[in-house]
Amino acid sequence: MMEITLTCKECGSGVSFHPNKDVSEVECQICHTKTEVHMNEDHEKGILKDCPCCKRKDFYKQKDFNRKVGVTLFVIAALLTLYMATTQYAPYSVAPFIILYIFDFALFKRLPPVVICYKCQTIFRKVCNISEIYDFNHEMNDRIVYSDHDFKGEQLDHH
Ligand SMILES: [Zn+2]
Ligand SMILES: [Zn+2]
Repeated sequence: MMEITLTCKECGSGVSFHPNKDVSEVECQICHTKTEVHMNEDHEKGILKDCPCCKRKDFYKQKDFNRKVGVTLFVIAALLTLYMATTQYAPYSVAPFIILYIFDFALFKRLPPVVICYKCQTIFRKVCNISEIYDFNHEMNDRIVYSDHDFKGEQLDHH
């Protein structure tokens, strides 16, 4: 089943829920602010055509990457490298970064992509029609975020 994570407009926490067309609002677990949602049968089937939060139709897909884990691993690799540089293993001091790179690559590949709404940044996981969703488009993002343009699900492409 599709998983939806919206950002609470009050406190900025992630609010996760599953599609259910009988539900018209979801509550933030942290500050208890309710957010209105509009879910339909498509959402219950894992098909994403309309955003249940802002009703827009413009989405992009992205690799689901945990930034905190990435940063932590990077710091560990950096410290290890610095430490190794002071030992007799100095010629191999870049090894932690090579290991990190390989690990990162494996991790990155295994994670299924997530879909994100350009307008309200809601995250969707396990989307069935992910093949219909395009990668991030900078121009679309700028026009949606800064000039409130609505592409209505049409992908902007350059000829
Ligand atoms: Zn909240
Ligand atoms: Zn949205």
